[in-house]
Amino acid sequence: MTKRTRPWGYSDSAEAQLPDWDLHTDTVAVRGGLARSGFGETGEALYLNSGFTYDSAEQAESSFKEETEHHLYSRFSNPTVAMFEERLAAIEGAEACFATSSGMSAMFASVACLVKQGDHVVASASMFSSCYVVLTEILPSWGVTIELVEGTEEKDWAAALSKPTQVVFIESPSNPLMEIVDIAMVSKLAHKVGATVIVDNVMASPVMQKPLELGADVVMYSATKHIDGQGRVLGGAILGSREYIKTKVMPFARHTGPSMSAFNAWVLLKSLETMTMRVERMNENALKVGEFLAKQKGIKLVSYPHLKSHKGYALAKKQMGGGGSTVAFAVDGDKAAAFKFMNALKVIDISNNLGDSKSLITHPASTTHRRLGREVQEAMGITENLMRLSVGLEHADDLIHDLKQALAS
Ligand SMILES: *Cc1c(COP(=O)(O)O)cnc(C)c1O
Repeated sequence: MTKRTRPWGYSDSAEAQLPDWDLHTDTVAVRGGLARSGFGETGEALYLNSGFTYDSAEQAESSFKEETEHHLYSRFSNPTVAMFEERLAAIEGAEACFATSSGMSAMFASVACLVKQGDHVVASASMFSSCYVVLTEILPSWGVTIELVEGTEEKDWAAALSKPTQVVFIESPSNPLMEIVDIAMVSKLAHKVGATVIVDNVMASPVMQKPLELGADVVMYSATKHIDGQGRVLGGAILGSREYIKTKVMPFARHTGPSMSAFNAWVLLKSLETMTMRVERMNENALKVGEFLAKQKGIKLVSYPHLKSHKGYALAKKQMGGGGSTVAFAVDGDKAAAFKFMNALKVIDISNNLGDSKSLITHPASTTHRRLGREVQEAMGITENLMRLSVGLEHADDLIHDLKQALAS
């Protein structure tokens, strides 16, 4: 029998061995949620099964009535996925987690499980384009109204949050421009009108920003990004109170089916063990690359939250442990100049992913944010000469060397 009640992977008989002090995130990331089977395996087991059996019809009935703790079907829950959920919840400091098949299914489920026809959602305007499509096209077609605000402006939030609102959605830092929203300030305003505050924490990662501690109610991730961070699997996660996960997210997900596969959860459990180390190094590298780019002649704009030149620098220093792994910058010139620069790179790959161990560069206007159209792009500051560089784990000197030779060309 798998024991799910022992959070650190110790068996019931070893109660005395349970740590009786608060463990550091690094420790939780390696051991949190581990539920060993009777075989005593070291690493997490991969339960690659869709269904579960019962000892009797009575046990099946009591399991469905939730009187017995028993997995029912892997669309609802699975032992490997549960280990990932418990580990990530322990790292985040959240009561509960539900893992999903991708970041977008996490984003959609986290909002859709809370709203119905006639409800109102307020969001910061600068965000990942698929989140933008969900909020401005899909949900409105089902009768939900949406108001977008300038995320950095307190008075805009205050005006929007003067009316009854069910959900506030914040992406901070934003993709691709790394704009910073004051999560504590917005949460206070949102709670006055009874709204649930959901933060897309993808760009900061669980290592560098803890939205729940800042007052938010829900955090969502694309686990594809820093959590896997090695270009292998898609995944997502929703974290919040036990009540929200149990009474809102799980019933919605159980019937609509955005569940994470056990195989992906198994890969992501291993990824969590090294996440802190990877993200800290990527943040250090990104700061070095940002500092380098800011000094170059052919560069017009560098946006990195922990650079003093960033508009939200003071807030980012307060709210985030690191500036993130992404640097947005623009070259002198137009789209052709940006393309020429990207094509001259020899180490950094052209790819629209981010948060990866490999440094990746993309041209948001023609790829990730293409769907938005020129007008919305311009409002978000996504110009034709803007690039988004996701800084990986290569040596910072090699990345700087690569950028320097591409600039010279
Ligand atoms: C990538 C991304 C998502 C979507 O995640 P997927 O795993 O690709 O579905 C959502 N929000 C942000 C900020 C992202 O960067």
